[in-house]
Amino acid sequence: MSKTTTLDKQASSQASFQLVASLLDTLDRPLLVSDRGGQILFTNLHAQDALGAGGFNAKPGLNLFRDLLRTDRKRILGKLEAGEQEITLPLEFADGKFRARVRWLPEPDWLAVFIDPIPAETPDDEAAMRQTVQELMQEREITYRNLLAAYLRLQEANRQKTVFLASAAHELKTPLAVMKGYYELLLSGSLGKLSERQKDTLRESKDSCDRLVRLVSMFLNYSALESGKLVLQLHENDLRDCINDMAGRWQDAFQRANVRLDIQLLPDLPLFKFDYQKVQQCMINLLDNALKHTPEDGCVTLVAQRHFWERRLSEVAPSEERRRDNGERANSVLISVRDTGSGIAAEFHQEIFEEFVRVDPSSSGMGLGLAITKRLIQAHRGKVWVDSEIGQGSCFSFILPIYVE
Ligand code: ADP
Repeated sequence: MSKTTTLDKQASSQASFQLVASLLDTLDRPLLVSDRGGQILFTNLHAQDALGAGGFNAKPGLNLFRDLLRTDRKRILGKLEAGEQEITLPLEFADGKFRARVRWLPEPDWLAVFIDPIPAETPDDEAAMRQTVQELMQEREITYRNLLAAYLRLQEANRQKTVFLASAAHELKTPLAVMKGYYELLLSGSLGKLSERQKDTLRESKDSCDRLVRLVSMFLNYSALESGKLVLQLHENDLRDCINDMAGRWQDAFQRANVRLDIQLLPDLPLFKFDYQKVQQCMINLLDNALKHTPEDGCVTLVAQRHFWERRLSEVAPSEERRRDNGERANSVLISVRDTGSGIAAEFHQEIFEEFVRVDPSSSGMGLGLAITKRLIQAHRGKVWVDSEIGQGSCFSFILPIYVE
């Protein structure tokens, strides 16, 4: 190639660069071009003004990433090479807030940076925004009030439904008691001798009747709790009598199901104030569940013992010394009902104490027993919980505090 040709080419590329430069100067906003290292190759007139105002004009070796964008070069290049069309970055210089929009020009491997001012909020905009926010808040308040009204209406409808069901359940009590009485009369043989088959059938019917009585009384208890009618009859009682009395009535049902019922009452159980009927109701609910979920040849063990209950404000475990001391100052009674039944998965351990929750919806029951138990125990200012694993049986425990006046 001759020297003249090279000079001609240089002259023509210089001319086209000038042409492009003057075209870019006509742009109404700042534009600058850099190589991939960030070295500024070109700035249009607006960009020169902006850089000048920011005090950058005279800076030798001005670098796009280090001096203007103040960001990591590799991160920006990485994003652009990964296919992002444009990257927007905040830019602060010359006492103004700007945004830089960086684009990649793959062919020369350059970066084009457009600089736009971020418009300051005008007072009008601010006022408009404030009004919009106020309108939104008003709307939210109206929605909230409507929701509250709907919730109260629903609650009232729910209360009326409970009252209606409670009166229906109450009406069932008398006929059920009569039926139960007749079963007992027939089974006692005072109305004539019965064959073993007849007795078996009657016993099964009586069991169903007993279950129905329990369901009705469970529902009545629940509706009483719902309507805030729970009043504890707190008297000094013997927990031993309370448990033995109830266990005696349950032995028969356990025997028929071929499940062993083991009652262990530790010797130092104190006399203390509790509601005899309601605590008995709690134990019945737990025994009933244990029997229902324990297969033949299984075992249900009820243990009652004195206990030191430390209501923890923090998760810090009591020190060894305090624990030893506590052994002598039992302040509660711990009752647990352990079974060798199906067990309950951990995710249901809290939920089963809520109303109408049943792990297996096809099983008999209303899902109320544990919810009622929890409320009755809480009314005694105690607590109830379960330890269980699928296939490993369950252990329901509750604590009743002993109050010394
Ligand atoms: P339900 O009337 O359905 O028995 P509960 O409130 O007494 O209502 O119990 C809630 C659910 O907890 C039951 O449906 C059952 O799935 C589960 N459950 C309670 N006790 C046991 C237990 N001892 N073994 C296995 N599952 C149990």
